[in-house]
Amino acid sequence: MNLEKIIYKYALINAVKHKGKAMEKAVIGAIMSNEPQFRKKPQKVLQKTKNIVEKVNKLTPKEQKKELKKLGIKLKEKKEAEKKKKLPPLPNIQEKVILRFAPNPSGPLHIGHARAAILNHEYAKKYKGKLILRMEDTDPRRVDPKAYKMIQEDLKWLGIKWDQLIIQSDRIPTYYKHATKLLEKGGGYICTCKPTEFKKLKDQSKPCPCRNLPTKENLKRWEKMQKMPEGKAVLRVKTDLKHKNPAIRDWVALRIVDEPHPRTGKKYRIYPTMNFAVTIDDHLLGITHVLRGKDHITNTEKQEYLYKHLGWKPPTFIHYGRLHMENIQLSTSKTKEGIQKGKYKGWDDPRLGTIRAIKRRGIQAQAIREAMIEIGAKIADSTLTWKKIYGLNKNILEEIANRYFFVAEPQPFKIKNLPEHLKGTIERPLHPDHPERGQRKIPFNGRVYIQKDDLKKAKILRLVDAVNVKIKNNSLEYHSMSLEEARKHNAKIIHWVPMDENIPANVIMPNTKIVEGLLEPAAKSLKIDQIVQLERFGFARVDKTNKKTTFYYTHK
Ligand SMILES: [Zn+2]
Repeated sequence: MNLEKIIYKYALINAVKHKGKAMEKAVIGAIMSNEPQFRKKPQKVLQKTKNIVEKVNKLTPKEQKKELKKLGIKLKEKKEAEKKKKLPPLPNIQEKVILRFAPNPSGPLHIGHARAAILNHEYAKKYKGKLILRMEDTDPRRVDPKAYKMIQEDLKWLGIKWDQLIIQSDRIPTYYKHATKLLEKGGGYICTCKPTEFKKLKDQSKPCPCRNLPTKENLKRWEKMQKMPEGKAVLRVKTDLKHKNPAIRDWVALRIVDEPHPRTGKKYRIYPTMNFAVTIDDHLLGITHVLRGKDHITNTEKQEYLYKHLGWKPPTFIHYGRLHMENIQLSTSKTKEGIQKGKYKGWDDPRLGTIRAIKRRGIQAQAIREAMIEIGAKIADSTLTWKKIYGLNKNILEEIANRYFFVAEPQPFKIKNLPEHLKGTIERPLHPDHPERGQRKIPFNGRVYIQKDDLKKAKILRLVDAVNVKIKNNSLEYHSMSLEEARKHNAKIIHWVPMDENIPANVIMPNTKIVEGLLEPAAKSLKIDQIVQLERFGFARVDKTNKKTTFYYTHK
């Protein structure tokens, strides 16, 4: 292809990518980074590009695409063209929509929680409603005091804004008040039966002796319960004793727990169960729609009895299917155990599915959001794969990540017979589509590190943008200069770093294995949290920058 044709091609590509208008500077940048044979004659490229870009911009977008097709080039559809997945409408929209995300503060959030959080937030935005963040901490044994803060950090990172924060352990007197009301209305009773005795009766659909006590007696017992030992009494909600699911029959609403609460200490001894606290709060906070997994269907049935006893209208319940995640540890209790035993390095260990682990690896919150919106709130079970997340994440990172050379397991070489005039400084763009971000400068004097792997089975290698070398007895010898020559010999094009100027680095892989290597000198300006593409290696997030740069590997 001659120069004019090449410019024409890149001008068309640029135009199609940018709504029909090619930009001269970007076209030149693309030619320089993709067609190194013209780097020696930048003037020629500059002179000719202007006219060709003008010519291309006179074509309609349709004609531009047609011309590209003639050249045999198919462009990947850009993100803008992809239809953004949208959530279906919520049923029963009457008043202001009020939703809640209600985690247990037993640990930080994981990717499974992200679904409930993102869906509730998206719907709150869609209907200009309200989102309540509610910490469900009425089981003192399951509370991790650090989790309150971690959950809020995780949500902020996910881009979720809540309008109100409710902590259930602040509301114990409210639950007591409604427990009293329930007893007064005859919708519940204080049961002092041994759990085994109660279970025997319940399994036969028979009432226990406490069930039919008069209200007065129940209120007396309720008062006494404050001083009874743990396990000796519970408040039960009356249900259909013949309900086909024995777990639902006369379920426990409040129980005695002697463990001090991390927030309120020994102030209270009687705590509501999740189902009781949730029902009271959903009603008092005016929740209009409850979106949750179908593993909560039994809970919904339990709660419906309580709504009835108290004369309240239940919210609209929407249950979605399970989300299967492949090869990923999600259980908070198992993760916590693993951290305590030293199996995991912390909540952000890269093997985990916690939000903080994903973040540390350089996965973008937007990718998680897109994945969850795509899955939505459908009743059928869904599977989320890493491949899916990586694909969405890559779309985002390709645009933002600058490129650098990282040589893993570096081997030093001094290229023999290198002509003196080929020594100098190589320039490569930080990002091939964004020449405005500038160039990286890589000194080349024939003393280089290359990756051990790249020597395998190779006879001729091209050190990208520098020279072609022959491999002879495990040493490198100058072969030729041009890219054409490299192509003629089918040479593998490899990256490299200068021996005399580089930065030691390591990359922590998702399985925690560490890959040691060297970075090109331009990488010294990298900052923590920046995400880069290590050419031919993969995307990675900068985690530390001391004498050594540490990355967490994102994906290919
Ligand atoms: Zn009983």
